[in-house]
Amino acid sequence: MAEPVFTGGCQCGAVRYSWGAALVSVPGAQLAWTCGRPAEFRSSAIVARGFCASCGTPLHMKEDGDPIFEIAIGTLDNPELAPPTEQAGVEAELSWFKSMPDLPRQRTQDYRTLEDLAKLRSLQHPDHDTRDWPPSKSSP
Ligand SMILES: [Zn+2]
Repeated sequence: MAEPVFTGGCQCGAVRYSWGAALVSVPGAQLAWTCGRPAEFRSSAIVARGFCASCGTPLHMKEDGDPIFEIAIGTLDNPELAPPTEQAGVEAELSWFKSMPDLPRQRTQDYRTLEDLAKLRSLQHPDHDTRDWPPSKSSP
């Protein structure tokens, strides 16, 4: 059985990527930017964070000299395929984080009217590679 090919990108579709191994830490040699390239913000003297210059979506973190790209799981087209296996930097965890599972839960339709839901039509990239993006005027 072939390894799954992971694909992902920013919310507007200006930057897309793929890789063929089941990792969220991705060696740069296996990562292909399939559409556009991320802009970078230097968050420290040794770390760059990649993001889409068009929509601002954070895409990755990479230390200078390290061949590994830490891809933001939320940017995967199917984040269910890559559940986290460890947490790093937990010293920065907010004090209330562990109590989040105990909070009351709501679905969007619980607090939005049907009229509001109709207005929430997504303008984001469809989370799969497509040659028709943004959609042409003739697309449904
Ligand atoms: Zn974007």
